Amino acid sequence: RDPGVRLASFIHQEGFIGGQWVPAASGKVFPVTNPANGQVVGRVADMGEQDTEAAIDAAHSAFHTWQKTTAKERSNLLRRWYNLMDEHKEDLAHLMVLESGKPLAEARGEMLYGSAFLEWYSEEARRIYGEVIPSPATSKELIVIRHPIGVASLITPWNFPVAMITRKAGAALAAGCTCVIKPAEDTPLSALALADLAEKAGIPPGVVNVVTASRANAPAVGNLMCSSPKVAGISFTGSTAVGKLLYEKCAKGVKRIGLELGGNAPFIVFDAANIKAAVAGLMAAKFRNTGQACISANRVLVQEGVYDEFLAALKQAVEQTVVGDGLKKGVNIGPLINANQLKRVEKLVQDTVACGAKVVLGGSVHPAGELFFQPTILTGVTDDMPCFKEEIFGPVIPIKKFKTEEEAIKIANNSEHGLASYFYSQDVSQVWRVARSIEAGMVGINEGFLPAAEVPHGGIKESGIGREGSKHGIDDYTYIKYLCFGEQ
Ligand code: ADP
Repeated sequence: RDPGVRLASFIHQEGFIGGQWVPAASGKVFPVTNPANGQVVGRVADMGEQDTEAAIDAAHSAFHTWQKTTAKERSNLLRRWYNLMDEHKEDLAHLMVLESGKPLAEARGEMLYGSAFLEWYSEEARRIYGEVIPSPATSKELIVIRHPIGVASLITPWNFPVAMITRKAGAALAAGCTCVIKPAEDTPLSALALADLAEKAGIPPGVVNVVTASRANAPAVGNLMCSSPKVAGISFTGSTAVGKLLYEKCAKGVKRIGLELGGNAPFIVFDAANIKAAVAGLMAAKFRNTGQACISANRVLVQEGVYDEFLAALKQAVEQTVVGDGLKKGVNIGPLINANQLKRVEKLVQDTVACGAKVVLGGSVHPAGELFFQPTILTGVTDDMPCFKEEIFGPVIPIKKFKTEEEAIKIANNSEHGLASYFYSQDVSQVWRVARSIEAGMVGINEGFLPAAEVPHGGIKESGIGREGSKHGIDDYTYIKYLCFGEQ
């Protein structure tokens, strides 16, 4: 089948507000391009304040009825949305490759991961329990119930165009909230395709709204999504810089906020590691989505006893990767999302090399196209070099050799971020010690792949607030209401 034909019914270019497909009030559109070849994949409504206001109004009025639906009704609708995602996962995966550049196998993986949140929250919807508290007074009964907070603003990034939306919207809808989604400007088509399926699933108008906007309009749209009195809370996944900005904006109206921001994950290989497993784990933790994930391994620390063996095996593994267009067979590393990201990665590598790091592999732009970067290994990297200080978000592995466990933990914890971390060791006492002392919201122990709908995803320090996924993901969308019953 021709993928163009298959995709046609999924390509929506208008926003989705109150159950209607609508153009921007300004009539403006912005192009969405395929990062592998620069071709325009769609021209999407460039919405602004007026459109955002309309979406918030639609979500606000839908909340009155949606919050009164039974848990079972919401569960059934989420399940139907999940079933449709599952049914159309091939088409959606192709669409995702076209706008995000990720290899098809990874897009298929994201469809499974992304749809799993709807499945999971269709189940969790029915288990949002309250409490009965033993009363200190015989004349009172004390009950705690959980209420949906209201309209939730969801602002999502381009690196996981489907999963970052379902992770938030699944939990919001399960709790009884309605939502306004602003997808990233690089990947709005996946978001609109999801809205198409939500509509087909029978989710009532206004419960899920999508406002698409160019980068130029994002601040105005985001501002309203944080400040409107009709919005109860915001959930954001993206850069730390924008996250801080939104946190500040939310302070004014004392809105609920969930933030999933940048990481700077350490990946530690101890002398007691299984080297083969550690190399495989690093390949998974580093190259998924060309290193453009907040949980990507960023600072690789290898103990001196296994350093040479590890580096040789890693070099061999990296040499076997295939860079190219994500729809081509055999490709496992795609382009970076846009020119800004490519320039940023290139500069980080150049600056790190200028500080004295050695290039073992790669180090510059890849001939496959304008937005491709070579899978790169740098050695002799130290704490103060740019590739260790900053989140790379590209296919670059900076390595530092270390001597002792204490030294490795000190380096690992020397970061303002604390999202994911990884370490490899088969010494059981060391595993416990390190797992306890590492400062992060998530720890991969002899494992390089952490994501699942069932687990709490989130960070500490400047990596964020709150947890998404798992039963804890519901918390951001509910508030606790205490009911005190007197006798008369
Ligand atoms: P990245 O640097 O990886 O693109 P961003 O944090 O810039 O990550 O983008 C994540 C999301 O935040 C996107 O949907 C983007 O449009 C949105 N965004 C960017 N700037 C703002 C802003 N000032 N207000 C609200 N949303 C914004």
